[in-house]
Amino acid sequence: MSEGCRIEVRGTVQGVGFRPWVYRLARRAGLAGRVWNHSEGVTIEAFGGAGSLESFVQWLRDDTPASARIRELRLSKIPPELAEDFVIEPSEGVGARALSIPPDLATCNKCEEEVLDPNDRRYRYPFTNCTECGPRFTITTDIPYDRSATTMHDFALCPSCEREFHDVMDRRFHAQPNACPECGPKLSLCEPDGTETICDDPLATAVGLLRGGAIVAIKGLGGFHLACDASDAPVVRKLRARKHRDEKPFAVMARDLAVARSLANLTTEEELLLSSQERPIVLVERRPDAPLAAEVAPESPVLGLFLPYTPLHHLLLREVDRPLVMTSANIAGEPICKDNAEAIARLGGIADVLLVHDRDIAMRCDDSVARVIAGKATVMRRSRGFVPRPFQLKESVDRPVLACGAHLKNTFCIAVEDTAYFGPHIGDLETLAAMEFFEEAVDRMQTILSVEPEVVTHDLHPGYLSTRYAKARGGAETIGVQHHHAHVVSAMAEHGLRGPVLGIAYDGTGYGNDGTAWGGELLLCFTGHFRRLATFRPIKLPGGNLAMREVWRVALSLLHDAFSGDAPIDEFPLFQRIPDESIRVVTQMIDRHLNAPQAHGVGRYFDAVGALVLNRPDSTFEGQVAVALNVIADVTERASYPFEIDRTGAVEIIDLRPMVRAVVEDVMRGVAASTISAKFHNTLIGATGAVVRGLAEVIGQPPVVLTGGVFQNPILTQGVLAELQNEFECFTHSRVPPGDGGLALGQVLIANAIVAEGSTPCA
Ligand code: ZN
Ligand code: ZN
Ligand code: FE
Repeated sequence: MSEGCRIEVRGTVQGVGFRPWVYRLARRAGLAGRVWNHSEGVTIEAFGGAGSLESFVQWLRDDTPASARIRELRLSKIPPELAEDFVIEPSEGVGARALSIPPDLATCNKCEEEVLDPNDRRYRYPFTNCTECGPRFTITTDIPYDRSATTMHDFALCPSCEREFHDVMDRRFHAQPNACPECGPKLSLCEPDGTETICDDPLATAVGLLRGGAIVAIKGLGGFHLACDASDAPVVRKLRARKHRDEKPFAVMARDLAVARSLANLTTEEELLLSSQERPIVLVERRPDAPLAAEVAPESPVLGLFLPYTPLHHLLLREVDRPLVMTSANIAGEPICKDNAEAIARLGGIADVLLVHDRDIAMRCDDSVARVIAGKATVMRRSRGFVPRPFQLKESVDRPVLACGAHLKNTFCIAVEDTAYFGPHIGDLETLAAMEFFEEAVDRMQTILSVEPEVVTHDLHPGYLSTRYAKARGGAETIGVQHHHAHVVSAMAEHGLRGPVLGIAYDGTGYGNDGTAWGGELLLCFTGHFRRLATFRPIKLPGGNLAMREVWRVALSLLHDAFSGDAPIDEFPLFQRIPDESIRVVTQMIDRHLNAPQAHGVGRYFDAVGALVLNRPDSTFEGQVAVALNVIADVTERASYPFEIDRTGAVEIIDLRPMVRAVVEDVMRGVAASTISAKFHNTLIGATGAVVRGLAEVIGQPPVVLTGGVFQNPILTQGVLAELQNEFECFTHSRVPPGDGGLALGQVLIANAIVAEGSTPCA
């Protein structure tokens, strides 16, 4: 007795070998029927005996392919048909929306083996892939995900590849980017002026050049990298000089885990993260004896390390046989280069040679960055390997929402019904090129999701380009969201919390409801509204944004405040490096409140104390001095400095002036910087604990969430958790970045709640 069953599958089920797998299961169960892709997922109609259907469904649930994510399996009974065979039907065209394009997938073991096997027809072929690995999001131009809607559509399959593509028993059955040396993309080598270098083997030539100390621009999955031998100090210095990147660390790619272990002290969690399918850059502790040029990450024990994720990387790293610097190829402030012509125009002055190919990149996608914080893998930049993987929301949004994110480290987010999709990492929205990338990426995500956002949400800061974009877009309701509220709600979304929660949002800066720069905030939060309960005593920033770079200004301001206008600058070698005239002018700015806006950011305290203790007048990139202060902390030091909490106002104020005075005493007594740094961290942890406990007496004991860029600091995160988790249920970030790269998710939910409730965002 034959029965019929329709199975609707939702999740990441396209481009991951899902239909062939269903086909094989159906054959194994002896069922007839069909399976097809459409814009919402995959539908299966199966016919056969009740027992066979039952085992088929059981296998579907239990044995899902590694790269697929089944979010929903919906079964319904349909009339049996007299079908004879099980078939894969062509994809259906664009429907309501598409939710199932997978992220780019790191090369699988089988493909890696083939590429390294001299007897395989794909030996040393850099574009080898299969249904379980290869490019996806970055080659997709439209939906549904089929070869014709990717940048592979111009490459006609050769007979061998064609056979694989149509053979259900082959692991390349319906692998849309399938290719081989006969029919697929090819490498070539270019001079900086764009002329092609004539050579038999561009890969071998590039390897020789890299070993000889050249800088090579390499076209990857989501854009170009600039590569050079990471053990060769002169070439790393040359790359720094040409890229005008003075001190910011470069990421290093190691050929495998064994080499990674020789470069860094790795924990089990870090090894898992390094070899995870997303293959992020992982921030790890560099070994003192690592065979790396000091110039890779000047003065920093933290190393950004990652493993190969394309066959081209595997081949390069093996043949060069040294770790390579692999840094995003861009001009400062601009997005990563993706097209050959663009790379030649923009990188010609940096690279000695360009290793390019003829498969176009449809969508830029930078490498992701992650770190193990308090024992937990935490994404700090969510991009290649993650995008456009859906993020499941606890509650649906009423109307499609586009959240434009923040200003620095921008990432946007689009939510439809109960799912949110982060876009790729855009970077700092400070140049026209970055803004163009933002708009291009938003358009592309709208296309592949087939959605037109009806609500557009942005940061409260009126000057941000993302804010201006939101307001200029038209055709949608726009809603401004407070920065730290968005941070807290992004963490709530990650853990399915509805509020109330006590949000501890510590970062560098974010526009406050009162127009001042917030950034050390304790907020009582619900999704749609919040109340500011406590903050840090503000520091004046003489020169405004200039004080973010010239951190000695913040240091002077901090001393001036703690010593009532009589800053003991003679005690610090830092100020001997600053011209007297500059000190005089800045002191006047502080005294007379001239161009010296108030800032509450915890990041500013890190900058100021770091400048004083490390004798560092300038921060050449965001967070440089703060991270330098963090990494030297002597974690065995238990002592801390005094602080006060002013509970007289409507918002409690954490006053660290007693700490600043004690830091000065320590410096005068010649206490080691590593000890002062540890005591500073301990003070922030202790002050946070004290203020939270005080607030709990009034508001009860809601769950506590830690969020904001400062919680990328493992010592602080671990310390605050240890301080609070016995009394409070504490939540930290993991899949959503704690910094501004995760902000857009909070913006989505707040805007949706404001629209739904008509609630006021703050009190
Ligand atoms: Zn593969
Ligand atoms: Zn072929
Ligand atoms: Fe922030």
